[in-house]
Amino acid sequence: MTHEVRAVVVRETGAHPSVETVLVPDPGPGEVLVRVRSCGICPADLDWREGGPDGRFPVLLGHEAAGVVAAAGAGVAGVRPGDFVVLNPHAPCGSCRSCRHARARGCAAPRRAARPMTLTDGTELSPALGVGALAECTLVAAGQCVKADPAVSSAAAALLGCNVLAGYGAAVHAGAVGRGDSVAVIGCGSVGLAAVAGARAAGAGRVIAVDPDGRRLDLAERFGVTGTVNSARIDAVEGVRALTGGLGADVVVDAVGSPETYAQAFYARDLAGTVVLAGAPARAATVRLPLSDVFARGGVLSSPRHGGGLPARDIGALLDLHLKGRLDLGAFLGPRIGLGDVGAAFEALCHGDMPAPVVLL
Ligand SMILES: [Zn+2]
Ligand SMILES: [Zn+2]
Repeated sequence: MTHEVRAVVVRETGAHPSVETVLVPDPGPGEVLVRVRSCGICPADLDWREGGPDGRFPVLLGHEAAGVVAAAGAGVAGVRPGDFVVLNPHAPCGSCRSCRHARARGCAAPRRAARPMTLTDGTELSPALGVGALAECTLVAAGQCVKADPAVSSAAAALLGCNVLAGYGAAVHAGAVGRGDSVAVIGCGSVGLAAVAGARAAGAGRVIAVDPDGRRLDLAERFGVTGTVNSARIDAVEGVRALTGGLGADVVVDAVGSPETYAQAFYARDLAGTVVLAGAPARAATVRLPLSDVFARGGVLSSPRHGGGLPARDIGALLDLHLKGRLDLGAFLGPRIGLGDVGAAFEALCHGDMPAPVVLL
């Protein structure tokens, strides 16, 4: 059986996202049909508006979502119909060279649904990050579903599929923030705010938020930063150094992923510290750094997927922190909107509005 559902589609480069009817097939072996309850608006979707792999169109947007399993295909053991699940783009295959060497977070071929979702004329859709969740229903690989406690709201749970997972992981896993460390986070979108939360949880001494938008710095204050740098008014590197005894921070998270912010992160970091690239760069972005500085300043330049987090392991742990009152997922939630508001929501995201909206279905 095929399900006719409403979904947000981009047909060509530069086209506005539109709500269209798409066809979602019943799950085949190892696949799961999920009735989406909530889907976040993530900057990575902006990049997918330029097309899927190899520039393929049409694209089905959305990848940061939670919902309820409607049907499970043959051989699916981990979830069953009625389960509340968080979707994620990274379900390690278990057999590629990375997975075989216990480096599942670098999996070269993450699992995806094999059966295509299509337009009503049969044109195959490219689901964003292999999820495609700005839709009433989506089809994913079973490994892309992480079972969650239904006590958590779907809007809050959705964020764990991407931004919060990546930001929190950037501080805790990739940055390996330790007690007393100084941490600077460049960019106060969802990824940056989650990095602030992760740094605080890991016992950082100083946590400095850097952003050119005062509204976002105000929001970061609510996440417990100890200092802020408004990079529209003062140089980001000088600002971080001034708040760290002139040295720079032990760990700097670039939660934006632009050539400019990456260079700021590199020079705002103390010698032999760690820079974590956690914001997803645009495809054409190119960074230029003097190689002699890379050599002389030492340290670690890290850019693992999802901040080094593993969805199957970390989503449950983050939900648990939320339920125990130690991670306020509600603070990441912006306005609740409908599928028809997605185009405007992307524009607002481009203008730096935070917290980002969440689509309720
Ligand atoms: Zn693999
Ligand atoms: Zn995302």
